Amino acid sequence: MTLDDIGHVAVLGAGTMGHGIAEVVALAGYDVTMRDIETEFVEAGYEDIEWSLEKLDGSGRLGESPDDVLARIETTVDLESAVSDADFVIEAAPEELEIKHGVFEALDEYAPAHAVLASNTSSLPITDIAAATDRPDSVVGTHFFNPPVKMDLVEVIYGERTSDETAETASDFVESIDKTPIYVRKDVRGFVVNNVLGPFVEEAAWMVSEGTAEIREADATMVHEREYPMGPFELGDLTGIDVSYRVRVEAERPVPPILESKVDAGAIGRKTGKGYYDYGSDDGANYTPEDASEAFDWLRIEARMSNEAAKLIGDDVATPEAIDTGLRLGAGFPEGPCRRADGIGLDAVLEKLDALYESYDEDRYNVSPYLRELVESGRTGKAAGAGFYEYAETDGGTGTEERGVFHEIEVGDTDVTDGRTITGADVTNFAGVSGDFNHIHMDEERMRESIFGERIAHGMLVLSAATGLIWQYRSLEMRDAVVAFYGLDDLRFRKPVYTGDTIHVKMEVVETTPRPDGPGNGTVTFALEIKNQRDEVVISCEMTSLLK
Ligand code: NAD
Repeated sequence: MTLDDIGHVAVLGAGTMGHGIAEVVALAGYDVTMRDIETEFVEAGYEDIEWSLEKLDGSGRLGESPDDVLARIETTVDLESAVSDADFVIEAAPEELEIKHGVFEALDEYAPAHAVLASNTSSLPITDIAAATDRPDSVVGTHFFNPPVKMDLVEVIYGERTSDETAETASDFVESIDKTPIYVRKDVRGFVVNNVLGPFVEEAAWMVSEGTAEIREADATMVHEREYPMGPFELGDLTGIDVSYRVRVEAERPVPPILESKVDAGAIGRKTGKGYYDYGSDDGANYTPEDASEAFDWLRIEARMSNEAAKLIGDDVATPEAIDTGLRLGAGFPEGPCRRADGIGLDAVLEKLDALYESYDEDRYNVSPYLRELVESGRTGKAAGAGFYEYAETDGGTGTEERGVFHEIEVGDTDVTDGRTITGADVTNFAGVSGDFNHIHMDEERMRESIFGERIAHGMLVLSAATGLIWQYRSLEMRDAVVAFYGLDDLRFRKPVYTGDTIHVKMEVVETTPRPDGPGNGTVTFALEIKNQRDEVVISCEMTSLLK
């Protein structure tokens, strides 16, 4: 069974995840059957897909009509007909082992012998789900993130008896639907992303419970100083404090007192209007950059996340690359915990954990043997030339293959730049630099009076403003690393840009090709989406540069 054998996909469950997965699969060109237990549930899921496709179409992100995509989606309440000719089945039924067992027993009976049977469970062991079948080698976890249409990551999880062929087919399938798979090679609780993310919320909660930090201080420091997309308490409110609480109780781990008191008070986050922040009378997570503080011990949080990562690597669950990709794409981290720890220095990370263990005598600060081994063998991070990753020699030495920015860039790396407001001066400057002294491009007043109104008529102007932003990628290293600019592909101006609009650029690395004749050099192709302050895509294109 390989990717080429997959033509028909079945998605079981039309709820939050099921309908989103069915939509993504149909968008990639597969025929999908979506099944739920009641007609009204399948219909509701189908309507959600229609709504989402209209939105994609409205923002110019659909290469065909919504009806063309919908034509590939069938719905049913009959399990047998949904799966009897399916090559790949994704179960997205409620998170209860009994329900999953019922579904997989039926799959064992009705799905073709060659089919891959995947579960979207977020917390149940794949091994336990597979036990309901006589073909556990064909059962695999495919953990999508919510909402599937937007989130790029899928964890591909091995159960104890999942075959390599099944996992590889699942991984290829995930790539074929334009998502990024990472392997989770053992069936561990929380898989990769939630495992590493756990301490982000938990350690901050311990610090506040102890009285050594304030909620706003923690969130502001992690967001404004350490560049996370959300503060730990803001994230806790979003996912639900009761969920974090339950996960810890079920895993028989100590619960930070602040979690317990919030659950007791029924203030469990956004869904109740109140959690760490007040979403009713107050305006929610209202911390500001001024709330950040140098006294906030962010290393406690980052050291614990890197320690979780090291445990997963040491136990052969995942590679540093898989973990870093997972946290960037699944949790929006600016960089993965392994690369970040290498930057901090693994010796400093280890020292922090040892000191915490010494003070608190709690298992959560127990250092992973793998992390200790790295430090003891001198692999203390980027400055030493090796840590979780190998780095360039830092002595300016002998043209090693691993030097330079090129080797640090991986397919799937994404970044969103700061914003830049287009001014009238940009219009004039651009005309001057490009030699394009056409009066529309040169003169803001004339431009206003022209048929273009206040729009910037020239896509290249917006792109050149964006280029300034792109140089910030990887803290200016890229500016020095560009050897040659190879050009743009598929440049499309999708919405007008006006003077006064603020643009930012979402960049994703889609291809890297080492150059055989230039050691350490290679071309990198970025998919660029230039968006305005209304989050509309104004330009999308691919840009290729030769980097050293
Ligand atoms: P949901 O409650 O929104 O949807 C589940 C759907 O499954 C419901 O429509 C229900 O009627 C249907 N269902 C019940 N029994 C069924 C059966 N036997 N066959 C087919 N459908 C059946 O739940 P959800 O949030 O979509 O979660 C589904 C799965 O995805 C769970 O395992 C969950 O842990 C996992 N997950 C959820 C998220 C998330 O953020 N919601 C993220 C990742 C993974």
